[in-house]
Amino acid sequence: MPRGDGTGPRGQGIGQGGGGRGRSGGSAAGPGGNCICPNCGERLAHQTATPCFERKCPKCGAAMMRE
Ligand SMILES: [Zn+2]
Repeated sequence: MPRGDGTGPRGQGIGQGGGGRGRSGGSAAGPGGNCICPNCGERLAHQTATPCFERKCPKCGAAMMRE
């Protein structure tokens, strides 16, 4: 190797990125959407970790439902 010292090899950055994405298979509707209060109509952004009906309306305290 005539010039083997100095900086490391270039163009060998492959092998990163990709993978770990695209897992689907939930039962409910996809991510996004809103929860809505059937009592007063307050809306919250739906959180994937928490079903709407387990959330309480911040205004009136009623159980939210999926919009
Ligand atoms: Zn409400």
